[in-house]
Amino acid sequence: MTKAAITGRPRTPWRPVAVYAVIAALWIMFSDMLAALVARSVGHFTLVEILKGWLFVAATSVLLYALIRRDTAALRRSEALHRTSLESMADALFLIDAQGRIVEANRAVRTMAGLAVEAMPEDIERLIDVLDIRHPDGRRITPDEAPSRRALRGETVREEALQFRRPGGEVLHIQVTASPVAAEEGAEPALAVVVIRDVTALKRLERMRDEFLSVAAHELRTPITTIKGYAQLLDRWTPGGHEPREGKAFKILNHQSDRLSELVQELLEVSRLQLGRLELRRQRFELGGLVGEVIERMRGVSSLHRFVLHQQGPILVDADPDRIEQVLTNLFDNAIKYSPDGGDIEATVGVREGLAVVSVRDQGMGIPRERQGQLFERFYRAHAGLGTDRGGMGIGLHLSEQILQRHGGRIWFESEEGKGSMFAFSLALAEPVHDEQGAHP
Ligand code: ADP
Repeated sequence: MTKAAITGRPRTPWRPVAVYAVIAALWIMFSDMLAALVARSVGHFTLVEILKGWLFVAATSVLLYALIRRDTAALRRSEALHRTSLESMADALFLIDAQGRIVEANRAVRTMAGLAVEAMPEDIERLIDVLDIRHPDGRRITPDEAPSRRALRGETVREEALQFRRPGGEVLHIQVTASPVAAEEGAEPALAVVVIRDVTALKRLERMRDEFLSVAAHELRTPITTIKGYAQLLDRWTPGGHEPREGKAFKILNHQSDRLSELVQELLEVSRLQLGRLELRRQRFELGGLVGEVIERMRGVSSLHRFVLHQQGPILVDADPDRIEQVLTNLFDNAIKYSPDGGDIEATVGVREGLAVVSVRDQGMGIPRERQGQLFERFYRAHAGLGTDRGGMGIGLHLSEQILQRHGGRIWFESEEGKGSMFAFSLALAEPVHDEQGAHP
């Protein structure tokens, strides 16, 4: 491949220009002298001069023609190269102009969409219609939300998850990336480049994994419950009490089967969540009360830590108390787990910008800055491979984020390595209840 093909810059024809300049200079300098030598009379000289002019025009025309021909051939070659690259791409690629017209589409567009050339719509709105393009939750995308339209407004859309239906009825899951193209810097985008990746096979595999996790976790629950049950029974039934060593063994057995059942429960929850089988049972409750209950429970888990609760009056929310308790338990569990030397664990429950906000702050090891970006990703463990690794599956925070998102809330954190972390979440406040006259109760 040539350098120009790699850099994308056209070649400047310096060599032919230099050759032309030298020949032209020599011609100008010596052609008249030559004509004077050759001419035998003034009339003859004029004729030679005219011939010389014609010769010059003919020579420069031939040179120009050769140059243009060479550049056109280079242009054609580069266009063919680009076209072949576009056509051999597995990803679908569109160019959309400012009016929403599809000005370019590679072959993958038609194969992915399952459309013949003559059935290909000419504009993007029509394509959205024909393919019934939707968000992953099943909502139809509006033309304004279309990645190409957003790119034409100057936004760069990265790997947005969407889905569409092929004419045969098959649903395809796609990831769409769209970028604006402007003729010059600072100008309005004239085109949008849209690249679509088919991730259906990947989704199918993810679904199989989640189904497997769900079945495995479900199957594991029964034997774990049985082991725990018998461990408790043996602990209570041994006539005349235990040998100290036996007593310790039963305690460990009990504790570890509890841990195992928590892990299995987490796996079950995360697979349910992915499969869309996590239900919310909303009811009105006081958030601070729930935080207080979880703190009481946590006091029994760790005597190394001092738990403090700050609350500004009662805060009512309409949420699923079991799920919110699950989030709180995870945040406190982590606060304990990642501050092994003890310290204060401070919870605050309050109202900020019209939302109920709970925060849990610890004075533990914190999270290295470069590992903070993926914290809510499924199975991500920020301390994996470090000396500070405390084990775990990296599910709790992902699950918490999903639970809060389903409530319309959100979760965030601040952390500094060696100084501790603060995790907080927000939920909408419960709507005040109005009686018949519209007065507050
Ligand atoms: P797990 O704790 O089971 O690994 P989580 O999803 O609850 O999974 O947490 C993901 C990762 O985030 C943890 O592995 C840990 O690296 C980091 N983390 C979570 N909470 C804290 C905290 N309070 N302090 C420091 N690191 C934390």
